[in-house]
Amino acid sequence: MDEFIPMRDGDLRWAFPGVRDAHAAAEELQAADGRLERIAVHLGLSAGGRLGYERCEGITLTGVFGAVGVPGVRMAASAFVPRRCLHGRRAGPPWMVTAYIEVDCAEYGEDCGSHEILCEEEEFDDPDEAARALAGAAGRLLGEVLARPAAYWRALPASADLPGRHA
Ligand SMILES: [Zn+2]
Repeated sequence: MDEFIPMRDGDLRWAFPGVRDAHAAAEELQAADGRLERIAVHLGLSAGGRLGYERCEGITLTGVFGAVGVPGVRMAASAFVPRRCLHGRRAGPPWMVTAYIEVDCAEYGEDCGSHEILCEEEEFDDPDEAARALAGAAGRLLGEVLARPAAYWRALPASADLPGRHA
């Protein structure tokens, strides 16, 4: 079973073992969390920490994950150690830093799945750099979301000639 641990209750060394400047990395994670929170506020959702650590039962923690969404639309930024399977125990490097926005397909539902509006993935060998990159990725996510009013995002899954549909 997955477990989500808010950032303030965790230890960044869970996600970034070997980090050199823990203070700077903590500030980057805080910045990323603040940007996700601004996305939530823009969408009219409750404020509060969005970024946290995630683990599966019995497995060492592997990353920080933050997600925000309205029905049919998901926005997320993460920094994690990619693993081959749930039982992998690799600690990193590398770290994968991702940011994405995806919307449910308005025409074919689950047969199609979801459409990507934003999809960024970058790999880092250095934990300090990965933490910094996560703050940057969250910033670009924030920029995309702020560029349009909340009403746009809320109407997106069903809107005509928008990313939820096929050309
Ligand atoms: Zn589709």
